[in-house]
Amino acid sequence: MRPDILNPLFAESSTLDGVGPKLSKPLEKLGLTRIKDFAYHLPERFVTRRAIADLDEGAEGEQVIVALTPTEHRASRNPGRGPYRVLAQDDAGNICALTYFGRASYTAKKQLPVGEKRWIAGRLDRYGDMLQIVHPDHVEKESSAHLARLNEPVYRLSEGLTQPRVAGLIAQSLEHLPELPEWIEPGQFDQSGWPIWRDALHLAHKSEHDQARDRLAYDELLANSLALLLVKAEGRRRKGQALKGDRSLRAKLTLPFEMTGAQKRSISEIEGDLQQEAPMLRLLQGDVGAGKTVVALASMLIAVEAGTQAAMLAPTEILARQHFETLRQMAAPTGVEVALLTGRAKGKERESILMGLLDGSIDILVGTHAIFQDTVSYKDLGLVVIDEQHRFGVAQRLALAGKGKRAPHTLAMTATPIPRSLTLAQYGEMDVSRLDELPPGRQAIETLVFPQGRSDEMVAAMGRHLATGQQAYWVCPMVRDSEVADIAAAEARYAELKEHFGEDVVLVHGQLHPEVKDTNMERFASGAAKLLIATTVIEVGVDVPSATLMVIEQAERFGLAQLHQLRGRVGRGSEKSRCILLRGDELSETGKKRLTYVKDSQDGFYLAEKDLELRGGGELLGTRQSGEAAFRIANLEQVQKLLPLAHADARLLIDRDGGLTSPRGEAARILLYLFERDWGVQLLRGG
Ligand code: ADP
Ligand code: MG
Repeated sequence: MRPDILNPLFAESSTLDGVGPKLSKPLEKLGLTRIKDFAYHLPERFVTRRAIADLDEGAEGEQVIVALTPTEHRASRNPGRGPYRVLAQDDAGNICALTYFGRASYTAKKQLPVGEKRWIAGRLDRYGDMLQIVHPDHVEKESSAHLARLNEPVYRLSEGLTQPRVAGLIAQSLEHLPELPEWIEPGQFDQSGWPIWRDALHLAHKSEHDQARDRLAYDELLANSLALLLVKAEGRRRKGQALKGDRSLRAKLTLPFEMTGAQKRSISEIEGDLQQEAPMLRLLQGDVGAGKTVVALASMLIAVEAGTQAAMLAPTEILARQHFETLRQMAAPTGVEVALLTGRAKGKERESILMGLLDGSIDILVGTHAIFQDTVSYKDLGLVVIDEQHRFGVAQRLALAGKGKRAPHTLAMTATPIPRSLTLAQYGEMDVSRLDELPPGRQAIETLVFPQGRSDEMVAAMGRHLATGQQAYWVCPMVRDSEVADIAAAEARYAELKEHFGEDVVLVHGQLHPEVKDTNMERFASGAAKLLIATTVIEVGVDVPSATLMVIEQAERFGLAQLHQLRGRVGRGSEKSRCILLRGDELSETGKKRLTYVKDSQDGFYLAEKDLELRGGGELLGTRQSGEAAFRIANLEQVQKLLPLAHADARLLIDRDGGLTSPRGEAARILLYLFERDWGVQLLRGG
């Protein structure tokens, strides 16, 4: 049970003034559903604005405050899809477009009546030959107190939200913070000079306060280490079963290829683990296409040879189906029974699967989280394979999978190459097998770097490429912190490329209506559309073998790992693929290095190490929002600096007080609940 002291923090967002059904959706999109989520929604940065008398005074890219009078409203031709623009004039007669996407246009209609002067705060940008401000941060009738505040936090937003709205809700939620007992080891706490928890949250929203941010990051790391150690300790307490395969099933496999050395090595590492009574806890890492599926299959066959069952957990319904089809086909010659169970299975179908699991006629089950529901019982589950995509998924699911009498062996798989030093943070003390060798015959992707200024030439080259009948991606720049600005850039590029290539072009970004997005994706996947323009959100699972060219604009703004993953969308067919990185003029040293590394290597592990090296230099983690990142609060730099401390701190606490019953243990429980690592605590009750 969650400690009562945390209740105010877990109260629903609807308990805040001003949050009704209309706001709750965009808030949810940001993960803001409870008071504590608001308190931990830390500023992306702080903005310093300059008040300017007229637009001539402002520089492109600058944050300004300026008085403008709307002259005209221009809705897009397809309402609800394109941008909504309000043209507005300063006192000198310069025109600027105030640009809105999606539902924000309703706000614009109300806030910006034609002919009435308004004070606008936002980032001055250029759209074609016009100045524009995309989604102004503030629109006020007077140069009021609000605008006089020239320094303020900038929060990540989603459609339908504004900076003042979010800032207001955060301020409200900070009033609800209880005083919590200290969970940090007293020596560590004294030495650090960090503020106490509550003060740290207040300070972090007020200004760039490193000590406050470090403390909050440390809390998150400590919670994570503690939970992972608790899972591990629990695993040690429970017995598994030694699984010895006799090769009878594996011998019947008729693979159309020879396994790579890395695959063979991984399988024998797994086989060795399975023969032990202690439950296996192993992570299989390998880039997309490295051949993880067949390693999973061989492992599951060992479990079946030993007379038990195996289950494979996929993160989504689509992936579960894909795995099911692949495994069923590959396993056909062995005669093992493979079944699929997802949330969609209902009635008779579901019944018969449940029966088959219980009587042992199903050997291998593939599915979504539905396979671990309480109503699903196995005759004898020997091995669980987790095709993992979510942060913390592994440990949490280990806790789930651990409900049976005997602990099954666990193999987790990930396509994200993680530097060795970070696997501890993400996966705890797991053993690791690496597929660091791609199957033979894969074509290298030719990677080139050109100046962004040559994008005209790129358009011509794109024309020649499309004329061959092959497809292509065009990835638009990433402007940190601002989804709307990303979308503005993608819309502009889309409009331009559409002029050249007409109906062959489709656009995909995060704020399109899901149906429109699906239709566009579908048109590209089926080959009806030849060119896909996208913001960084190219959907997971996009696999279009005849897409053989990718252009990435302002590539220096992307993280190394992200560039690698984006590039992985091409090079999936038999044709030679190319990836063109367009770089801006102002290239930092690290930006330059990043591009060189991606250009020269296609080895995900190597790039991950280099990524870490470069970020160690103080760069912010660019992919923090992508869901791939391990932590919400801690950035990579903080992980490197603070994780060893937090891990040692956690270890000490568990060694001294494994039941978390001392006063500090009690505080640590609160911490675990606060960071929702309570599956760690829940294991304690069983023990
Ligand atoms: P991953 O899951 O690691 O992304 P897959 O298991 O889906 O990769 O494998 C990608 C493709 O490579 C599949 O078509 C698979 O059949 C093929 N493949 C796997 N191992 C080999 C190998 N040793 N030689 C040739 N092709 C292989
Ligand atoms: Mg796979």
